[in-house]
Amino acid sequence: MAEFTMELSDEQKEVRDWLHGFAADVIRPAAAEWDEREETPWPVIQEAAKVGIYSLDFYAQQYFDPTGLGIPMAMEELFWGDAGIALSIVGTGLAAVGVLANGTEEQIGTWIPQMYGDADDVKVAAFCSSEPDAGSDVASMRTRAVYDEAKDEWVLNGTKTWATNGGIANVHVVVAVVDPELGSKGHASFIVPPNTPGLSQGQKFKKHGIRASHTAEVVLDNVRVPGSCLLGGKEKLDARLARAREKAKKGGERVKNAAMATFEASRPAVGAMAVGTARAAYEVALEYAQTRQQFGRPIIDNQGVAFQLADMRTSIDAARLLVWRASWMAINGKPFTAAEGSMSKLFASETAKKVTAQAVQILGGNGYTREYPVERMHRDSAIYTIFEGTSEIQRLVIARTLAGMPIR
Ligand SMILES: Cc1cc2nc3c(=O)[nH]c(=O)nc-3n(C[C@H](O)[C@H](O)[C@H](O)COP(=O)(O)OP(=O)(O)OC[C@H]3O[C@@H](n4cnc5c(N)ncnc54)[C@H](O)[C@@H]3O)c2cc1C
Repeated sequence: MAEFTMELSDEQKEVRDWLHGFAADVIRPAAAEWDEREETPWPVIQEAAKVGIYSLDFYAQQYFDPTGLGIPMAMEELFWGDAGIALSIVGTGLAAVGVLANGTEEQIGTWIPQMYGDADDVKVAAFCSSEPDAGSDVASMRTRAVYDEAKDEWVLNGTKTWATNGGIANVHVVVAVVDPELGSKGHASFIVPPNTPGLSQGQKFKKHGIRASHTAEVVLDNVRVPGSCLLGGKEKLDARLARAREKAKKGGERVKNAAMATFEASRPAVGAMAVGTARAAYEVALEYAQTRQQFGRPIIDNQGVAFQLADMRTSIDAARLLVWRASWMAINGKPFTAAEGSMSKLFASETAKKVTAQAVQILGGNGYTREYPVERMHRDSAIYTIFEGTSEIQRLVIARTLAGMPIR
């Protein structure tokens, strides 16, 4: 276990500064254009691939940083550059994690490289879990996967929604119901390989923020994938289902959802994205407050403005500390006895919404225009309290964890 310190190592500082340089020189200058275009910023993803930021290697290196701070640091810097573009860059990583967490070595080696492509021909991947009637309530998912034993193929049918990179991805990871009797315990994840017949993009959403990130429905109409596309393999699935059935038989014991532990470990990364956006807006507001003159002095000379900046910075730092604590707990295998992962995501995302609104206010009329980036940051920040579990769901998870109640 790494010794406790509040100081980043020289190596971590170096990575952070390198990412910051990319965010400042490549991402930020492109932000307004791709926000307006509402399209995936392929050239920026390609640039990220060229320098090694858009790759599994980079992601894995940060993931295995023994302090746990590699991923949150990377997220904060990239999202400081721009949330929509950064999500286009890290969205594939979110799908890749699904394969890393549940896939066999062969599946990891086969599919993850195809998720990224290479610098000359970049690809993206999508993780498709949410459905029109199964958002917060994941257990009510209806997309069905049925095994065709004669052909050793799985047949997928259903409609996924809100999929980041859905329909434009080279590889889709799809969560589907294999045993409807078991609720969320009866779900399994599948790889849908490139150009599989039956998978198509439904509507592409026109969004309030993070508009450079593609979000769409994914329709699965008799999509046939080989047995080898079931993540983890059939044997493991059968054993897991048998255990779940056994538990269900034993007087309906409420089974702890294993996915919850995974969420506790992944949610701090979303918190770090929110910290990045909040910090970006705060920095713009601070500089503006120091330079904008009204009544013959910089507006920061007014306590009403200065105190807002003090509160903004305080809550950003507090959010980062919660994110770092949860990330450290995750890498060290600490039990999340107070749902510390959810806490960090809740606090950081609410902070981003509040801080970006304060930044708009400090910039006055300019804050309300697209001439200044805080307007976009304010729109972008609204996503953090919605995806990867809404703020209400985070509170529900925290409260039930504190009360020792089952989380379903
Ligand atoms: C831009 C974007 C990208 C996304 N990317 C992906 C992706 O890549 N893959 C993917 O699978 N999903 C993705 N999502 C889906 C996202 O995770 C869901 O939108 C989210 O889980 C909420 O589900 P919902 O939209 O159906 O809202 P609902 O679940 O319908 O919630 C509506 C409101 O009711 C509240 N609510 C619901 N249940 C409770 C309760 N028990 N107690 C109190 N309040 C409650 C919610 O907090 C919310 O305020 C994305 C969403 C967006 C907007």
